[in-house]
Amino acid sequence: MKSSVLVLSDIDGTLIPHPFLSGVSTEDKSEDVARMFSLFEHKNFGLVTGRRKAGFERFFREYNMAETFPAFLAVEFATHVSVFGKWVVERSQNSSVSRLMKELAAEIGAYSEFNEGHNLAQALQRGWFDTYFLEEKTLCAQIEGHFPDAEKLAKYFAVVEKILNPYTIGAGALAVQSFPSMRRIDVLENGFLPKCGFWPTIESHREALGICADSELTVVALGDEHYDSYMFRYLKNDLGARFKRVYTISVSHKLNYATHWCPDTRTALSFVENVLGSGEVRQNVFANMEKL
Ligand SMILES: [Mg+2]
Repeated sequence: MKSSVLVLSDIDGTLIPHPFLSGVSTEDKSEDVARMFSLFEHKNFGLVTGRRKAGFERFFREYNMAETFPAFLAVEFATHVSVFGKWVVERSQNSSVSRLMKELAAEIGAYSEFNEGHNLAQALQRGWFDTYFLEEKTLCAQIEGHFPDAEKLAKYFAVVEKILNPYTIGAGALAVQSFPSMRRIDVLENGFLPKCGFWPTIESHREALGICADSELTVVALGDEHYDSYMFRYLKNDLGARFKRVYTISVSHKLNYATHWCPDTRTALSFVENVLGSGEVRQNVFANMEKL
């Protein structure tokens, strides 16, 4: 029988505590990670994450798990998509993003004060950062500074802005998304919409994913960060008219384009387990949501 529901979820901060903003160690996340992996048995469950492929595969080593993929996996904000473990969408690298990140890494790497105790593996293990983080992705990159010392932090971002700003003007300029509350700046290929544009891939694998026609389909999306609100907008506003229903659930924070809100990652996990459970449980969940 075909599924009348499709669940698409972010990972970090949505189904499990964030790798380095939550303060929750790798060990203390293990139960939640195991529960998330259990969801992969459902063909009508997919993940849409900002993690790179390598970041997703890190789960296998960190938690000593079998290499299991969800039926639908969109990584790097949906620039790379895998269906049943086979990569079917792979966008090519933006060269300006690469040049900028190389220049930044070289400049920041030259300051010894930024590099004392710069140990990413350790930071990920304990669940909080007191260093900087540069992550190059295909069409965007993340530039973060997490120094508790205000003076060091200001100096770090002064170096960042000197290198970064020339890349944001003129032909081929990169766009910027700014997250001061998270001490993070992102650069993006102009016109790139994070976590959007993946529906045609789902459409072309509809049979394998075992989902019913759009007009009968309830799409449930979950997320906790600004880029998830772009996914919500994509599913609800751009595509919404074709579906029976779209529920967009923001976890922890109240995001734009969210139809519902859920307080924390554990509640979100239970919610997804119920939605993917038996038809009766699901109907009860949806009936209660309609009353909200
Ligand atoms: Mg997240």
